[in-house]
Amino acid sequence: MMNTERDWVGSRQMLRQLRDVMAGGGSPAERLDRITRLIAEGMIAEVCSLYVLRGAGPLILYGTEGLRKDAIFRTRLAVGEGLIGTIAERARALALADAQNHPKFAFRPETGEEIFQSLLGVPVLRNGRVQGVLAIQTQLARDFTEEEVETLETVAMVLAEMIAASDLPEPAATDDGEEITAVFENRPEILSGSRLNDGIAAGHAVLHGRGAAINQTVAEDIALEEDRLTEAVAAMQSSLDTMLEDTRRRFGTGEHLEVLDAYRMFADDRGWLRRIREAVQSGLTAEAAVAKVQNDSRTRLVSAANPYLRERLMDLDDLAYRLLQHLAGENGRGTRNIPEDAILVARSIGPAELLDYDQARLRGLIVDEGSATSHAAIVAKALEIPMIGNVQGAIGKIESNDRLLLDGDRGQVHVQPGEEVWNSFTEAVDSRAQRRAEFVASRDLEAITKDGVEIELHINVGLPMELRSLDEAGADGVGLCRTEIPFMVSPTFPRMDAQTRMYREYFDAAGGKPVVFRTLDIGGDKLLPYFRPSEDDNPAMGWRALRIALDRPALLRLQIRALIRAAAGRELRIMFPMVSEVSELDRARALLDQEIDRAESNGETLPESTKVGCMLEIPALAFQLPQLLSKIDFLSVGSNDLAQFLFASDRNNPRVADRYDVLSPAMLQFLHSVRESANTAKVSVSLCGEMAGTPVEAMALIALGYRSLSMPPGSIGAARVMLRALDQGALEKQLVPMLASSEHSLREHLEEFAKKHQIPI
Ligand code: PEP
Ligand code: MG
Repeated sequence: MMNTERDWVGSRQMLRQLRDVMAGGGSPAERLDRITRLIAEGMIAEVCSLYVLRGAGPLILYGTEGLRKDAIFRTRLAVGEGLIGTIAERARALALADAQNHPKFAFRPETGEEIFQSLLGVPVLRNGRVQGVLAIQTQLARDFTEEEVETLETVAMVLAEMIAASDLPEPAATDDGEEITAVFENRPEILSGSRLNDGIAAGHAVLHGRGAAINQTVAEDIALEEDRLTEAVAAMQSSLDTMLEDTRRRFGTGEHLEVLDAYRMFADDRGWLRRIREAVQSGLTAEAAVAKVQNDSRTRLVSAANPYLRERLMDLDDLAYRLLQHLAGENGRGTRNIPEDAILVARSIGPAELLDYDQARLRGLIVDEGSATSHAAIVAKALEIPMIGNVQGAIGKIESNDRLLLDGDRGQVHVQPGEEVWNSFTEAVDSRAQRRAEFVASRDLEAITKDGVEIELHINVGLPMELRSLDEAGADGVGLCRTEIPFMVSPTFPRMDAQTRMYREYFDAAGGKPVVFRTLDIGGDKLLPYFRPSEDDNPAMGWRALRIALDRPALLRLQIRALIRAAAGRELRIMFPMVSEVSELDRARALLDQEIDRAESNGETLPESTKVGCMLEIPALAFQLPQLLSKIDFLSVGSNDLAQFLFASDRNNPRVADRYDVLSPAMLQFLHSVRESANTAKVSVSLCGEMAGTPVEAMALIALGYRSLSMPPGSIGAARVMLRALDQGALEKQLVPMLASSEHSLREHLEEFAKKHQIPI
């Protein structure tokens, strides 16, 4: 163990020189050349070599002082092979006075290493993972001291960041062209997960919360770094105390508290803190020092079998993260410095944390856990960021700054793809962006079919921030505002004032365009953090949406009251979800009337007018349309739930979700007859499920007589371009007789029609 009194001058000087070389000019190859020379001189050795490991290997010689230069990129060792491979495998330093006679020694003639007898090698670790091996060799037999091992480990720490930043020479620059290019392609891996938000993205990995890049590893001013460390330790300890106090107050004493107490004790662990301080004294910044000691506990963790020791090491690992966050001065929060094309990789992430990142730079999101209804997924949708979830072990398999291709449409991520895959993917990303730009450019064109039928295009939104798309898309209004979404991302139930403020935001952002507020559709898969989850066997058909509202009328009345207040003088459109029979609508409407009367008698400014709508999602309601339609101002078909109930096919179960097609004769016939009933009753009818957002499906709906569609904002452009090329009368003539068909789907016929008439779908 090092002695704190130790003179670190040599180490500090070497680190400073290293920093200057790294920041200096020249090609990466020249820099690496100077770096290895500097380390060899600093360590008084003839040889210094850096082997880099990408993914599963092999270890490749990237730079050397003392070995033959033409061995660079040529000398390769598998993990576990030879002494270098052994260091990588064990993630431990190896100091050998007589290396050549070690049983693991693997002689590589191309290096000219036969004249060197002693070897000291250390793993280059980052986030506890081996990035490579740094080794020095000497001609004369020599015993390496513990101080020398520590010094080389400190140097390796600095090199780890250099490797992570890919500040390395290009292997293709050597004569061995073809084989060498494969070096960079040696770790293409495709990970699969579930699709949480569509879209594709190409960019560089940013590991959320963990393993954020350390911008500076070499200290400019040691005393300053010591002060920063002391302050961060104090801040961490006091925040842990507060956390403990909070927990004690809220939950009393118990096992969880003992765990936390033990954890707090580690934060005072003298040995741990002393080792970090020593690393600072050796010339590292406070962050790099914490990371160095963290690497240590990580590697010990890998081999620790004793469960108590493992727990302890895990706590130390977690503490190191906390300390790093305090050093970043962000307490785990705050906008991070992320690359222009960041793809965020997280074990799990909360909505607020996601919003902490610079949204203009965020291209995609990958999470270890998470479902389509997780809060992060909701925010990702609002931000239009492609996202995949359930990528088991994503954090472990993806390294900071890795090149990633995220395919949200297929639920896949390509890690460190080869050049060809990267190029074709980025082309696809560009061409989508171009198409999108074309759609944006078309936003002022009238949404009118070729045969002169006007179609209203509305957007579906969740969070108020999504209303910015209203103008971008050139939409006519908001056809579906899922009011439960802001409830889902809020940590507590929004009370009256908070709800009123929230709804006002929607009204204001819509700038006079109509907004259809759907009352809370909670239950089923839409859970609120503060609401006990349903224990129904069949939550989609259980106690949800209007059923909850009618059983707990105070909830609905509070929401309606807030909506009335927020509307104040503007038109209020309110719609009830999951209505199964007319009497339910009657009861909901009665609550609305009560609230309007109440507002009036309180002298509040009433909405300029109130329009009441009903969602048609449950097939039974279709058999009561004449009675229903005389009581409402508009009807909106929720095709997502409707299809699920019509086919008895769970919309969230991937095994059956796509088994039946919304373009099946049964579904289309149903939709056709609903539209006819609405026309007869002179009640406006719209469709607001995902179906409206797919051009070929929207085309069928228009042919069936739908004149108003509501869809995700990103789908409006394609729908507009499609319908402007459509002769809806001609398609209606073809489609209506086909509704009697016994085929599984009419999709192919519709696609053929589009192709024949050059309708972009
Ligand atoms: C629907 O069911 O089609 C619908 C629009 O509502 P949600 O997707 O929110 O259930
Ligand atoms: Mg629904």
